[in-house]
Amino acid sequence: MRLAARPVGQPTPADFELATVDVPEPADGQIVVRNTWMSVDPYMRGRMDDAPSYIPPFALGAALEGSALGEVVASRAASVPVGATVTHFLGWREYAVLDAAGATVVDPALAPPEAWLGPLGTTGLTAYAALTRTAPMREGDVVFISAAAGAVGSVAGQLARKLGASVVIGSAGGPAKTKKLLDTFGYDAALDYRQGSLGEQLAQAAPDGIDVYLDSVGGDHLQAAVGALRTGGRIALVGAISGYNATTPAPGPDNLYQLAIKEAGVRGMLVTSHLDLFPEWIGKAAAWLADGSLRTEQTVVDGIEQAPSAFLGVLNGANTGKMLVRLETNR
Ligand code: NAP
Repeated sequence: MRLAARPVGQPTPADFELATVDVPEPADGQIVVRNTWMSVDPYMRGRMDDAPSYIPPFALGAALEGSALGEVVASRAASVPVGATVTHFLGWREYAVLDAAGATVVDPALAPPEAWLGPLGTTGLTAYAALTRTAPMREGDVVFISAAAGAVGSVAGQLARKLGASVVIGSAGGPAKTKKLLDTFGYDAALDYRQGSLGEQLAQAAPDGIDVYLDSVGGDHLQAAVGALRTGGRIALVGAISGYNATTPAPGPDNLYQLAIKEAGVRGMLVTSHLDLFPEWIGKAAAWLADGSLRTEQTVVDGIEQAPSAFLGVLNGANTGKMLVRLETNR
């Protein structure tokens, strides 16, 4: 699947183009992977723009990239044998040819394959790094998490509880998702940001304020969280999805001076700076998945030709939990 055009504002299916090409022979040190699952992620929207960022833009006319999982079907690398299940970064295609050094062999016995792109992948790690390093939690904290029914948020709420939160509040769009926050993902309170002022809803759910906020949304959510923060509070800036399709700069919070008065901290994070935590996180998360104390969901879309609509869906809230594409090679 190639980038056909750079979107202005909301991407459309016309920005993508499906092409069929021969799979090249692997060179020495390379493997061929039959991709069975691929991930679509909000950060990919930024890569569609030709603008400097922490990761290079997608090239026009070239296949897109992103996390994927599959089975090694040919190998010219001793370290990664045929039959291994691997994750790598050449998604958006059914077969990938890559250097073995760019693949991570995973243990399919530890968790279902798709979990390696969700709770055991970078989305789960993002929740863990945000709540242990970027905005480190303390026992008894009141914690607020936005995009709470999504991939990062659905893990983060349960993790906050495991890390000792006294109250965990989540926000999401619509009644089905807020119900899911309470019934499945262990939140104590669920705010529907489409139903009235988020600031008022947050003040009601946390009358004495919040200690930690994991921000995936920016805009009104960040403004509300800064307003609700207690002295010494901590905010992890993880994402700002409310502005990803903006064509003019979105208004920022107008209450940042409160951070000074509250001696509060706001810190950004990139999960790629926390990959050293992967073994620790996978050890914990795989055990919690196995004992049922970490509940996760996926929204699955079938076929490479549906990958653009899955991606547009994740930007617009079509997903609960991790948005994944199951590829036709997944027999
Ligand atoms: P996700 O939460 O599974 O999916 C995105 C969700 O954002 C949608 O389901 C939608 O849920 C919500 N959303 C969309 N527009 C919104 C708006 N205007 N206001 C409020 N919510 C909106 O995606 P994810 O992969 O877990 O990522 C969550 C956030 O973390 C994203 O901002 C992403 O860029 C960021 N992230 C950052 C890093 C890092 O290294 N810094 C790593 C991973 C992810 P609703 O239906 O509830 O609106």
